[in-house]
Amino acid sequence: MNQKMLTDPNENVSGGNVNTLRPQPLGLYIHIPYCIHKCGYCDFNSHLIDQGEMGAYVDALLVEMDHYAQSHSSDREVQTLFLGGGTPTTLPIPQLVRILESAEKNFCFASNSEITFEANPATIGQNQLKSLRQAGYNRISVGVQSFNKTELTLLDRAHGVEEIHCTIDRARGAGFDNLSLDLIFAIPGQTLERWEDNLRLALDKNPQHLSTYNLTIEPETAFWKLQSRGKLTMPNEEHQLALYRRTLEVLESAGLRHYEISNFARPGRECRHNITYWQNGNSLGFGAGASSFLDGTRHKNINLPARYIKEINKQRTAVESQESLKPRRAMGESLMLGLRLLEGISIQQFEERFQTSFDQAFGDIVSSLQKKDLVTIEQNRLRLSEKGLFLADSVILEFIA
Ligand code: SF4
Repeated sequence: MNQKMLTDPNENVSGGNVNTLRPQPLGLYIHIPYCIHKCGYCDFNSHLIDQGEMGAYVDALLVEMDHYAQSHSSDREVQTLFLGGGTPTTLPIPQLVRILESAEKNFCFASNSEITFEANPATIGQNQLKSLRQAGYNRISVGVQSFNKTELTLLDRAHGVEEIHCTIDRARGAGFDNLSLDLIFAIPGQTLERWEDNLRLALDKNPQHLSTYNLTIEPETAFWKLQSRGKLTMPNEEHQLALYRRTLEVLESAGLRHYEISNFARPGRECRHNITYWQNGNSLGFGAGASSFLDGTRHKNINLPARYIKEINKQRTAVESQESLKPRRAMGESLMLGLRLLEGISIQQFEERFQTSFDQAFGDIVSSLQKKDLVTIEQNRLRLSEKGLFLADSVILEFIA
């Protein structure tokens, strides 16, 4: 890969300037692609655990980190690190510690950096959680998905309800005071009352952050095959909207702020790592299938872990595709990502960043969306309307069509 392209300020469409005195903020993402079981709805880059491969995978991650640190560590400050998957806690704890130590050795971390790992119930014990907290991980995101036994079975999850409670209580006991929980709604057969029970059980755990995702059927998943054979019927759109509205009512009245389409947080506990992504900030991704975005250039790694390891061992990188964003595309993506945030986009900042008139670039699209009551402009900020939030996926696509 041409590393110069990644750091050349003349190509910079992201607004960053590598020559400023202050180090540029950077987010690190590390992908652990192993799971103990493939859930029926999952289209993430996840593969069944392979003990023979996992050690070599971590070795490859460290080589890749070392490689990119040589070009990007001196003028950047890591503000967030996110270990996602897959299920990162399928790796032995010493390996998870080794990954963080290597990141800290290679990059300069801000003193208040947010360091998150994802964990699934039934994959980690109390002492192991303590070891991770001591190593410096300071935020845990638990993949709960549902507190209801029937729903967990329907979702084809590998854990039961008891294991959820156990994992969350252990995380608290291990000293994690920044806890995020993931839930899924619009599960076939889910009533408003049952979804509300899920939300209340989640709130009982007093999480700092909650993500609520609408179940979608992705191509080639086990659920997709069931649906094509008529064996899985999704709730209709009206019911899905009612579930989404109930989510807002319950969580906001419990003091969680709705700050992104699917995300809620106590003040100051928003996920900083994901905000960097939604604001189109610089991030480096390591591991199979991971993506990076630096100064207007994006690259994505090879998906298959075995091929990723092979490429890293050969040439210290495993890039499958790379793209320098043309200004129009960069502007469209910036809107597409920024509109996910409830605060929306500052039109003034957009114009300063891209040195172009917002109206000239997107005026027609915005007026057509305004007529359909999908976006609003207030105080010079473009935002999704309440209706637009629910239809966000199709609305934001308009900006990159
Ligand atoms: S645990 Fe998460 S990443 Fe793993 S298979 Fe299930 S949904 Fe996919």
